[in-house]
Amino acid sequence: MKKKFLTSWLLDILFPRFCIKCKKEGLYICNECSIFTSETQPVCPLCGLASKFGKTHKNCYTPQCLDGLTSIWDYENIIKDALHIIKYQGKFHILEELIERLISIMTKNPESFSKFVTLLTDENTIITFVPIHKSKKRQRGFDQAELLADHIATLGNKKPIKLLERTKQTQSQFELNKKERLNNIKNAFSFIGKENIKKVIIVDDIWTSGATMQECCRVLKENGATKVWGFTLAKVQNVYYPKS
Ligand SMILES: [Zn+2]
Ligand SMILES: [Zn+2]
Repeated sequence: MKKKFLTSWLLDILFPRFCIKCKKEGLYICNECSIFTSETQPVCPLCGLASKFGKTHKNCYTPQCLDGLTSIWDYENIIKDALHIIKYQGKFHILEELIERLISIMTKNPESFSKFVTLLTDENTIITFVPIHKSKKRQRGFDQAELLADHIATLGNKKPIKLLERTKQTQSQFELNKKERLNNIKNAFSFIGKENIKKVIIVDDIWTSGATMQECCRVLKENGATKVWGFTLAKVQNVYYPKS
């Protein structure tokens, strides 16, 4: 506890916090502006439709696909800005504040997160992440998914393990449709794990179409994983089924 206190005390001196939206000093998302965050509803990672606990529907399930997905917020407004600032301005200590908020959301609604928390605290579960390409990591200085995985693993009293390496430089998924995304990301990752893997939680910052995480999941399952659950801080809504 003392170490944690010292760390945040130092961080506050080195990087005073200002609200991303209203610029008031104190927090990155001040209590007034927290109304601009929206908790996302659990969906099946395959079809994007509502599903209790974020578990993959039985009818959607294939052996190589994700077993479930847990996300916290809709990717919009102040959460979108926060993740953007982490990634492109390197203010990755914003993550600490998001983790504190995430804990209170999970505590408030334990039923909804029960499958995820059970898996997180299972001693056979490995926490890993969707890595960025090493040239991008060199350029950026950090990998935000790796940092996030570190925080998530800590909640389960673990350390994250890097199981995947991004071997292909891919085009940004944002400009592509679903089919192009799947082609773009195909064979972009290779397995580098040394351990026998069974249950895995794979962490990333944003769920867009899920193509990247599904591809990671496929590689993990080909290398022995029997259960793979996705975790992202934010989720883009209605990617598969746009309202039209
Ligand atoms: Zn504010
Ligand atoms: Zn489904």
